[in-house]
Amino acid sequence: MTSEQLFYDKKTGFDRLTKSDKTAMQAYAEGYKAFLDAGKTERDAVKEMVKRAESKGFRAWTRDDTLKAGDKIYQVNRNKGITLAVIGKKSLREGVRLTAAHLDAPRIDIRTVPLYEDGGMAYFKTHYYGGIKKYQWTAIPLELRGVVCVCHNGQVKKVEVSVGAKPDDPKFVITDLLPHLATEQMSKKATEVVKGEGLNVLIGSVPSDTGDDKCTEKVKLAIMEHLNREYGMVEADFLSAELCCVPAWNACDIGFDRSFVGAYGHDDRVCSYTAATAMLDLKGTPAHTCVCLLVDKEETGSDGVTGMQSRAFDTLMDDLCRAQDVLPGECLENSVCLSADVCNAFDPNFPEVSEKRNDAKINCGFALVKYTGARGKSGTSDATAELMARIRCIFDKANVIWQTGQLGKVDQGGGGTVAMYLANRNIDTVDAGVPVLSMHAPFEVIAKLDLYMAYKGFSAFYKD
Ligand code: MN
Ligand code: MN
Repeated sequence: MTSEQLFYDKKTGFDRLTKSDKTAMQAYAEGYKAFLDAGKTERDAVKEMVKRAESKGFRAWTRDDTLKAGDKIYQVNRNKGITLAVIGKKSLREGVRLTAAHLDAPRIDIRTVPLYEDGGMAYFKTHYYGGIKKYQWTAIPLELRGVVCVCHNGQVKKVEVSVGAKPDDPKFVITDLLPHLATEQMSKKATEVVKGEGLNVLIGSVPSDTGDDKCTEKVKLAIMEHLNREYGMVEADFLSAELCCVPAWNACDIGFDRSFVGAYGHDDRVCSYTAATAMLDLKGTPAHTCVCLLVDKEETGSDGVTGMQSRAFDTLMDDLCRAQDVLPGECLENSVCLSADVCNAFDPNFPEVSEKRNDAKINCGFALVKYTGARGKSGTSDATAELMARIRCIFDKANVIWQTGQLGKVDQGGGGTVAMYLANRNIDTVDAGVPVLSMHAPFEVIAKLDLYMAYKGFSAFYKD
Protein backbone atom coordinates (compact mmCIF):
# COMPACT_ATOMS: atom_id res chain seq x y z
CA MET A 1 0.00 0.00 0.00
CA THR A 2 1.10 3.59 -0.62
CA SER A 3 1.61 6.25 2.01
CA GLU A 4 -1.45 8.02 0.66
CA GLN A 5 -3.54 4.96 1.47
CA LEU A 6 -1.87 4.36 4.80
CA PHE A 7 -1.64 7.88 6.26
CA TYR A 8 -4.40 10.12 7.66
CA ASP A 9 -3.80 13.68 6.53
CA LYS A 10 -5.97 16.74 6.77
CA LYS A 11 -6.16 18.02 3.22
CA THR A 12 -7.96 20.99 1.74
CA GLY A 13 -11.38 19.95 0.52
CA PHE A 14 -11.01 21.95 -2.67
CA ASP A 15 -9.30 19.08 -4.49
CA ARG A 16 -12.34 16.85 -3.83
CA LEU A 17 -15.09 19.40 -4.30
CA THR A 18 -17.33 18.59 -7.26
CA LYS A 19 -18.42 21.32 -9.67
CA SER A 20 -22.01 21.08 -8.47
CA ASP A 21 -20.87 21.31 -4.83
CA LYS A 22 -18.93 24.47 -5.70
CA THR A 23 -22.02 26.16 -7.13
CA ALA A 24 -24.38 24.89 -4.43
CA MET A 25 -21.96 26.03 -1.72
CA GLN A 26 -22.14 29.70 -2.81
CA ALA A 27 -25.94 29.70 -3.02
CA TYR A 28 -26.24 27.94 0.33
CA ALA A 29 -24.01 30.55 2.00
CA GLU A 30 -26.35 33.33 0.83
CA GLY A 31 -29.29 31.72 2.65
CA TYR A 32 -27.16 31.32 5.74
CA LYS A 33 -26.10 34.97 5.71
CA ALA A 34 -29.75 36.08 5.55
CA PHE A 35 -30.55 33.83 8.53
CA LEU A 36 -27.69 35.32 10.55
CA ASP A 37 -28.78 38.91 9.92
CA ALA A 38 -32.38 38.19 10.91
CA GLY A 39 -31.57 35.91 13.86
CA LYS A 40 -29.11 37.81 16.03
CA THR A 41 -30.75 36.63 19.26
CA GLU A 42 -32.18 33.22 20.08
CA ARG A 43 -35.70 34.67 20.01
CA ASP A 44 -35.20 36.16 16.56
CA ALA A 45 -33.51 32.98 15.33
CA VAL A 46 -36.47 30.87 16.54
CA LYS A 47 -38.89 33.14 14.68
CA GLU A 48 -36.83 32.80 11.50
CA MET A 49 -36.69 29.05 11.87
CA VAL A 50 -40.48 28.80 12.33
CA LYS A 51 -40.95 30.76 9.09
CA ARG A 52 -38.58 28.49 7.20
CA ALA A 53 -40.07 25.31 8.71
CA GLU A 54 -43.67 26.31 7.91
CA SER A 55 -42.70 27.15 4.33
CA LYS A 56 -41.41 23.56 4.05
CA GLY A 57 -44.62 22.01 5.36
CA PHE A 58 -43.79 21.63 9.07
CA ARG A 59 -46.65 22.17 11.56
CA ALA A 60 -46.70 23.14 15.22
CA TRP A 61 -47.20 19.97 17.27
CA THR A 62 -48.63 19.42 20.76
CA ARG A 63 -49.00 16.23 22.77
CA ASP A 64 -52.70 15.77 21.89
CA ASP A 65 -51.95 15.90 18.19
CA THR A 66 -51.69 12.76 16.02
CA LEU A 67 -48.37 11.44 14.79
CA LYS A 68 -47.71 9.31 11.72
CA ALA A 69 -44.78 8.47 9.44
CA GLY A 70 -43.90 11.34 7.16
CA ASP A 71 -45.26 14.02 9.53
CA LYS A 72 -43.13 17.15 9.72
CA ILE A 73 -43.53 18.91 13.02
CA TYR A 74 -41.99 21.55 15.24
CA GLN A 75 -42.34 22.71 18.82
CA VAL A 76 -41.19 26.03 20.26
CA ASN A 77 -39.93 26.23 23.85
CA ARG A 78 -40.76 29.61 25.42
CA ASN A 79 -39.86 31.51 22.25
CA LYS A 80 -36.17 30.72 22.81
CA GLY A 81 -35.69 27.20 21.53
CA ILE A 82 -37.22 25.07 18.80
CA THR A 83 -37.33 21.36 18.02
CA LEU A 84 -37.98 20.15 14.49
CA ALA A 85 -38.85 16.55 13.68
CA VAL A 86 -39.69 14.36 10.72
CA ILE A 87 -41.42 11.13 11.75
CA GLY A 88 -39.74 8.10 10.20
CA LYS A 89 -41.05 4.80 8.85
CA LYS A 90 -39.62 2.80 11.75
CA SER A 91 -41.00 2.86 15.26
CA LEU A 92 -39.48 5.25 17.78
CA ARG A 93 -38.46 2.04 19.59
CA GLU A 94 -35.58 1.91 17.11
CA GLY A 95 -34.35 5.31 18.22
CA VAL A 96 -34.09 8.71 16.56
CA ARG A 97 -31.41 10.47 14.53
CA LEU A 98 -30.86 13.48 16.73
CA THR A 99 -28.95 16.72 16.14
CA ALA A 100 -28.53 19.33 18.87
CA ALA A 101 -27.21 22.84 18.30
CA HIS A 102 -27.62 26.13 20.18
CA LEU A 103 -29.10 29.44 19.09
CA ASP A 104 -27.73 31.69 21.85
CA ALA A 105 -24.44 33.53 21.32
CA PRO A 106 -22.17 35.68 23.50
CA ARG A 107 -23.53 39.20 23.78
CA ILE A 108 -24.09 42.16 26.11
CA ASP A 109 -27.29 41.82 28.15
CA ILE A 110 -29.03 44.93 29.48
CA ARG A 111 -29.28 44.78 33.26
CA THR A 112 -32.46 44.65 35.33
CA VAL A 113 -32.14 48.28 36.49
CA PRO A 114 -30.05 49.63 33.65
CA LEU A 115 -30.77 53.30 33.01
CA TYR A 116 -28.65 56.12 34.45
CA GLU A 117 -27.24 59.52 33.63
CA ASP A 118 -23.62 60.58 34.09
CA GLY A 119 -21.53 63.41 32.65
CA GLY A 120 -24.51 64.75 30.70
CA MET A 121 -25.03 61.42 28.93
CA ALA A 122 -27.40 58.49 29.40
CA TYR A 123 -26.27 54.87 29.65
CA PHE A 124 -27.45 51.31 30.11
CA LYS A 125 -25.69 49.16 32.70
CA THR A 126 -25.07 45.68 31.29
CA HIS A 127 -24.07 42.16 32.21
CA TYR A 128 -22.14 40.25 29.58
CA TYR A 129 -23.57 36.88 28.47
CA GLY A 130 -21.22 34.00 27.71
CA GLY A 131 -17.44 33.89 27.50
CA ILE A 132 -16.25 37.12 25.93
CA LYS A 133 -13.03 39.10 25.74
CA LYS A 134 -14.61 42.29 27.10
CA TYR A 135 -12.25 44.67 25.31
CA GLN A 136 -13.54 43.37 21.95
CA TRP A 137 -16.99 44.83 22.61
CA THR A 138 -15.93 48.47 22.98
CA ALA A 139 -15.85 50.99 20.13
CA ILE A 140 -18.03 48.92 17.80
CA PRO A 141 -21.58 49.75 16.65
CA LEU A 142 -24.21 47.84 18.61
CA GLU A 143 -27.90 47.26 18.07
CA LEU A 144 -30.52 46.67 20.71
CA ARG A 145 -32.80 43.65 20.43
CA GLY A 146 -35.24 41.89 22.70
CA VAL A 147 -38.62 42.11 24.37
CA VAL A 148 -40.20 44.15 27.13
CA CYS A 149 -43.20 42.78 29.00
CA VAL A 150 -44.87 46.05 29.92
CA CYS A 151 -47.11 45.78 33.00
CA HIS A 152 -49.81 48.42 33.15
CA ASN A 153 -52.82 48.24 35.47
CA GLY A 154 -52.37 44.49 35.90
CA GLN A 155 -52.27 43.95 32.13
CA VAL A 156 -49.17 42.56 30.45
CA LYS A 157 -48.27 43.57 26.93
CA LYS A 158 -45.20 42.12 25.22
CA VAL A 159 -43.37 44.62 23.06
CA GLU A 160 -40.62 43.70 20.62
CA VAL A 161 -37.60 45.97 20.51
CA SER A 162 -35.19 46.16 17.57
CA VAL A 163 -33.14 49.32 17.13
CA GLY A 164 -30.06 49.47 14.94
CA ALA A 165 -30.74 46.81 12.31
CA LYS A 166 -32.33 49.03 9.67
CA PRO A 167 -29.95 51.24 7.63
CA ASP A 168 -31.42 54.50 9.00
CA ASP A 169 -31.62 53.31 12.61
CA PRO A 170 -29.46 54.86 15.31
CA LYS A 171 -26.95 52.49 16.90
CA PHE A 172 -25.31 52.24 20.32
CA VAL A 173 -21.73 51.93 21.56
CA ILE A 174 -19.54 51.16 24.55
CA THR A 175 -16.78 53.76 24.47
CA ASP A 176 -13.08 53.03 25.03
CA LEU A 177 -10.25 55.14 26.39
CA LEU A 178 -8.13 57.25 24.02
CA PRO A 179 -4.54 55.93 23.63
CA HIS A 180 -3.19 59.30 24.77
CA LEU A 181 -4.52 58.66 28.27
CA ALA A 182 -4.25 54.87 28.24
CA THR A 183 -0.72 54.34 29.54
CA GLU A 184 -2.02 52.71 32.70
CA GLN A 185 -4.81 50.80 30.88
CA MET A 186 -2.39 49.39 28.31
CA SER A 187 -0.11 47.97 30.97
CA LYS A 188 -2.97 45.95 32.50
CA LYS A 189 -3.77 42.32 31.81
CA ALA A 190 -6.28 41.86 28.97
CA THR A 191 -8.89 40.62 31.47
CA GLU A 192 -8.58 43.92 33.36
CA VAL A 193 -8.37 46.34 30.42
CA VAL A 194 -12.15 46.68 30.33
CA LYS A 195 -14.02 45.50 33.41
CA GLY A 196 -17.52 44.00 33.50
CA GLU A 197 -18.82 47.12 35.21
CA GLY A 198 -17.19 49.21 32.48
CA LEU A 199 -19.37 47.78 29.72
CA ASN A 200 -21.86 50.65 29.85
CA VAL A 201 -23.76 51.40 26.66
CA LEU A 202 -24.09 55.01 25.49
CA ILE A 203 -27.73 55.72 24.61
CA GLY A 204 -28.27 59.51 24.50
CA SER A 205 -27.42 63.04 25.65
CA VAL A 206 -30.30 65.43 24.96
CA PRO A 207 -32.02 66.72 28.14
CA SER A 208 -35.80 66.67 28.43
CA ASP A 209 -37.56 69.95 27.68
CA THR A 210 -40.96 68.97 29.02
CA GLY A 211 -40.62 71.36 31.99
CA ASP A 212 -40.33 68.80 34.79
CA ASP A 213 -38.37 71.24 36.96
CA LYS A 214 -38.10 68.91 39.98
CA CYS A 215 -36.17 66.32 37.94
CA THR A 216 -32.38 66.63 38.19
CA GLU A 217 -31.66 63.91 35.61
CA LYS A 218 -32.99 65.52 32.48
CA VAL A 219 -31.15 63.27 29.99
CA LYS A 220 -32.39 60.11 31.72
CA LEU A 221 -35.87 61.67 31.74
CA ALA A 222 -35.71 62.32 28.00
CA ILE A 223 -34.74 58.67 27.38
CA MET A 224 -37.65 57.44 29.53
CA GLU A 225 -40.02 59.80 27.71
CA HIS A 226 -38.81 58.32 24.42
CA LEU A 227 -39.21 54.73 25.63
CA ASN A 228 -42.67 55.56 26.96
CA ARG A 229 -43.72 57.01 23.61
CA GLU A 230 -42.25 54.13 21.59
CA TYR A 231 -43.02 51.13 23.80
CA GLY A 232 -45.37 52.33 26.54
CA MET A 233 -42.63 51.64 29.10
CA VAL A 234 -41.91 53.11 32.51
CA GLU A 235 -38.56 52.45 34.17
CA ALA A 236 -39.95 49.54 36.25
CA ASP A 237 -40.72 47.66 33.02
CA PHE A 238 -37.00 46.98 32.57
CA LEU A 239 -37.42 44.34 35.27
CA SER A 240 -39.64 42.32 32.99
CA ALA A 241 -37.53 42.81 29.89
CA GLU A 242 -34.94 40.77 28.03
CA LEU A 243 -32.90 43.27 26.09
CA CYS A 244 -29.40 42.86 24.76
CA CYS A 245 -26.82 44.56 22.61
CA VAL A 246 -25.39 42.65 19.67
CA PRO A 247 -23.02 43.86 16.94
CA ALA A 248 -24.76 46.15 14.44
CA TRP A 249 -23.25 44.66 11.32
CA ASN A 250 -24.42 42.11 8.84
CA ALA A 251 -22.82 38.91 7.61
CA CYS A 252 -20.50 39.39 4.64
CA ASP A 253 -18.06 37.52 2.43
CA ILE A 254 -14.41 37.70 3.42
CA GLY A 255 -11.44 37.41 1.08
CA PHE A 256 -10.80 38.23 -2.61
CA ASP A 257 -12.09 34.74 -3.39
CA ARG A 258 -15.15 35.14 -1.11
CA SER A 259 -14.28 31.82 0.50
CA PHE A 260 -15.24 32.89 4.05
CA VAL A 261 -18.29 34.32 5.78
CA GLY A 262 -17.60 36.89 8.48
CA ALA A 263 -20.44 37.54 10.94
CA TYR A 264 -21.62 37.83 14.50
CA GLY A 265 -22.90 34.58 16.01
CA HIS A 266 -21.53 31.73 13.85
CA ASP A 267 -21.22 29.92 17.21
CA ASP A 268 -23.56 28.17 17.00
CA ARG A 269 -26.00 29.43 14.41
CA VAL A 270 -23.83 27.84 11.75
CA CYS A 271 -24.59 24.37 13.14
CA SER A 272 -28.19 25.34 13.96
CA TYR A 273 -28.74 26.43 10.37
CA THR A 274 -27.01 23.46 8.74
CA ALA A 275 -28.63 20.87 11.03
CA ALA A 276 -32.07 22.44 10.57
CA THR A 277 -31.96 23.08 6.82
CA ALA A 278 -30.66 19.55 6.21
CA MET A 279 -33.87 18.38 7.90
CA LEU A 280 -36.15 20.90 6.16
CA ASP A 281 -34.74 19.73 2.81
CA LEU A 282 -35.24 15.97 3.49
CA LYS A 283 -37.01 14.31 0.58
CA GLY A 284 -39.48 11.51 1.31
CA THR A 285 -39.93 9.77 4.64
CA PRO A 286 -36.69 8.80 6.41
CA ALA A 287 -36.29 5.34 7.93
CA HIS A 288 -35.70 6.65 11.45
CA THR A 289 -37.45 9.61 13.01
CA CYS A 290 -35.17 12.65 12.76
CA VAL A 291 -35.12 15.27 15.50
CA CYS A 292 -33.27 18.59 15.41
CA LEU A 293 -32.95 20.45 18.73
CA LEU A 294 -32.05 24.12 18.66
CA VAL A 295 -31.58 25.13 22.28
CA ASP A 296 -30.74 28.22 24.31
CA LYS A 297 -28.32 28.92 27.20
CA GLU A 298 -25.38 26.82 25.97
CA GLU A 299 -23.04 29.77 26.42
CA THR A 300 -23.92 29.98 30.12
CA GLY A 301 -23.80 26.26 30.90
CA SER A 302 -27.05 24.86 29.42
CA ASP A 303 -29.00 25.48 32.65
CA GLY A 304 -32.56 26.76 32.83
CA VAL A 305 -35.86 25.89 31.16
CA THR A 306 -34.61 26.62 27.65
CA GLY A 307 -31.16 25.03 28.08
CA MET A 308 -30.13 21.49 27.11
CA GLN A 309 -30.29 20.35 30.74
CA SER A 310 -33.99 21.28 30.90
CA ARG A 311 -36.61 18.55 31.19
CA ALA A 312 -38.30 20.18 28.20
CA PHE A 313 -36.41 17.76 25.94
CA ASP A 314 -37.42 14.71 27.99
CA THR A 315 -41.04 15.81 28.04
CA LEU A 316 -41.12 16.21 24.27
CA MET A 317 -39.52 12.78 23.78
CA ASP A 318 -42.02 11.31 26.27
CA ASP A 319 -44.87 12.87 24.28
CA LEU A 320 -43.57 11.58 20.94
CA CYS A 321 -43.01 8.11 22.38
CA ARG A 322 -46.46 7.99 23.99
CA ALA A 323 -48.00 8.73 20.59
CA GLN A 324 -46.40 5.49 19.35
CA ASP A 325 -46.80 3.54 22.59
CA VAL A 326 -43.03 3.25 23.04
CA LEU A 327 -40.99 3.48 26.27
CA PRO A 328 -38.93 6.68 26.10
CA GLY A 329 -35.94 4.94 27.71
CA GLU A 330 -35.88 2.40 24.92
CA CYS A 331 -36.08 5.11 22.28
CA LEU A 332 -33.18 7.10 23.78
CA GLU A 333 -31.06 3.98 24.23
CA ASN A 334 -31.31 3.25 20.51
CA SER A 335 -30.83 6.85 19.38
CA VAL A 336 -27.74 8.48 17.93
CA CYS A 337 -26.90 12.15 18.35
CA LEU A 338 -24.64 14.57 16.56
CA SER A 339 -24.04 17.31 19.09
CA ALA A 340 -23.73 20.09 16.55
CA ASP A 341 -21.42 22.83 17.76
CA VAL A 342 -18.55 24.79 16.31
CA CYS A 343 -14.92 23.98 17.04
CA ASN A 344 -11.77 26.04 16.92
CA ALA A 345 -10.03 26.30 13.56
CA PHE A 346 -6.24 26.24 13.47
CA ASP A 347 -5.13 29.88 13.33
CA PRO A 348 -1.60 30.51 11.93
CA ASN A 349 -1.56 33.75 13.95
CA PHE A 350 -1.68 31.69 17.16
CA PRO A 351 0.06 28.39 16.41
CA GLU A 352 1.37 28.15 19.96
CA VAL A 353 -2.01 27.07 21.41
CA SER A 354 -2.79 24.53 18.70
CA GLU A 355 -1.94 20.91 18.16
CA LYS A 356 -1.41 20.80 14.42
CA ARG A 357 -2.28 17.15 13.88
CA ASN A 358 -5.47 17.26 15.90
CA ASP A 359 -7.02 20.73 15.57
CA ALA A 360 -9.52 21.29 12.77
CA LYS A 361 -8.40 23.28 9.75
CA ILE A 362 -10.26 25.77 7.60
CA ASN A 363 -11.54 24.26 4.31
CA CYS A 364 -10.85 20.68 5.41
CA GLY A 365 -14.56 20.09 5.97
CA PHE A 366 -17.08 19.22 8.65
CA ALA A 367 -15.22 18.42 11.87
CA LEU A 368 -15.91 15.35 13.99
CA VAL A 369 -14.76 15.91 17.57
CA LYS A 370 -14.45 12.80 19.73
CA TYR A 371 -14.24 14.75 22.97
CA THR A 372 -14.01 18.30 24.32
CA GLY A 373 -13.56 19.15 28.02
CA ALA A 374 -10.55 20.39 29.97
CA ARG A 375 -7.48 19.01 31.76
CA GLY A 376 -7.78 15.20 32.01
CA LYS A 377 -10.86 15.12 29.75
CA SER A 378 -13.10 16.65 32.44
CA GLY A 379 -16.56 17.75 31.37
CA THR A 380 -16.96 15.70 28.21
CA SER A 381 -18.85 12.62 27.13
CA ASP A 382 -16.00 11.24 24.94
CA ALA A 383 -17.68 9.33 22.10
CA THR A 384 -17.01 5.61 21.79
CA ALA A 385 -14.78 4.15 19.08
CA GLU A 386 -17.81 2.28 17.79
CA LEU A 387 -19.81 5.48 17.35
CA MET A 388 -16.90 7.31 15.71
CA ALA A 389 -16.62 4.46 13.19
CA ARG A 390 -20.32 4.53 12.48
CA ILE A 391 -20.33 8.26 11.76
CA ARG A 392 -17.13 8.10 9.66
CA CYS A 393 -18.74 5.51 7.45
CA ILE A 394 -21.91 7.57 7.01
CA PHE A 395 -19.91 10.64 5.95
CA ASP A 396 -17.60 8.71 3.63
CA LYS A 397 -20.48 6.95 1.89
CA ALA A 398 -22.14 10.31 1.21
CA ASN A 399 -18.90 11.98 -0.03
CA VAL A 400 -18.94 14.47 2.82
CA ILE A 401 -15.59 16.23 3.15
CA TRP A 402 -14.85 15.88 6.84
CA GLN A 403 -11.97 15.99 9.30
CA THR A 404 -11.29 15.56 12.99
CA GLY A 405 -11.14 18.43 15.45
CA GLN A 406 -9.86 19.03 19.00
CA LEU A 407 -9.67 21.97 21.35
CA GLY A 408 -6.00 23.00 21.10
CA LYS A 409 -3.06 21.72 23.08
CA VAL A 410 -3.61 19.49 26.10
CA ASP A 411 -3.90 21.69 29.23
CA GLN A 412 -4.02 24.86 27.12
CA GLY A 413 -7.58 25.62 28.20
CA GLY A 414 -10.79 23.81 27.46
CA GLY A 415 -14.50 24.00 26.90
CA GLY A 416 -17.60 21.93 26.47
CA THR A 417 -20.77 21.58 24.46
CA VAL A 418 -24.23 20.10 25.04
CA ALA A 419 -22.89 16.64 24.08
CA MET A 420 -22.54 15.39 27.65
CA TYR A 421 -26.12 16.34 28.59
CA LEU A 422 -27.41 14.17 25.75
CA ALA A 423 -24.96 11.36 26.42
CA ASN A 424 -25.97 11.41 30.10
CA ARG A 425 -29.48 10.55 28.91
CA ASN A 426 -28.16 7.29 27.46
CA ILE A 427 -27.94 8.55 23.88
CA ASP A 428 -24.82 7.70 21.84
CA THR A 429 -23.45 11.18 21.16
CA VAL A 430 -20.53 12.73 19.34
CA ASP A 431 -19.63 16.35 18.63
CA ALA A 432 -19.55 17.57 15.06
CA GLY A 433 -19.34 21.10 13.77
CA VAL A 434 -17.86 23.84 11.66
CA PRO A 435 -14.37 25.20 12.45
CA VAL A 436 -14.39 28.89 13.43
CA LEU A 437 -11.73 31.61 13.52
CA SER A 438 -12.04 34.31 16.23
CA MET A 439 -14.67 32.26 18.09
CA HIS A 440 -16.77 34.33 20.58
CA ALA A 441 -15.50 37.62 19.09
CA PRO A 442 -18.20 40.04 17.88
CA PHE A 443 -17.11 39.10 14.34
CA GLU A 444 -16.32 35.43 13.71
CA VAL A 445 -15.14 33.75 10.52
CA ILE A 446 -16.01 30.39 8.93
CA ALA A 447 -15.29 28.88 5.51
CA LYS A 448 -18.12 28.28 3.03
CA LEU A 449 -16.74 24.85 2.17
CA ASP A 450 -16.98 23.74 5.80
CA LEU A 451 -20.47 25.28 6.06
CA TYR A 452 -21.73 23.36 3.07
CA MET A 453 -20.08 20.11 4.16
CA ALA A 454 -21.81 20.40 7.55
CA TYR A 455 -25.12 20.60 5.68
CA LYS A 456 -24.18 17.53 3.61
CA GLY A 457 -23.01 15.71 6.73
CA PHE A 458 -26.25 16.31 8.65
CA SER A 459 -28.28 15.27 5.56
CA ALA A 460 -26.40 11.98 5.32
CA PHE A 461 -26.84 11.40 9.05
CA TYR A 462 -30.62 11.90 8.95
CA LYS A 463 -30.98 9.57 5.97
CA ASP A 464 -28.85 6.78 7.46
MN1 MN B 1 -21.10 26.68 20.74
MN1 MN C 1 -19.55 29.15 22.37
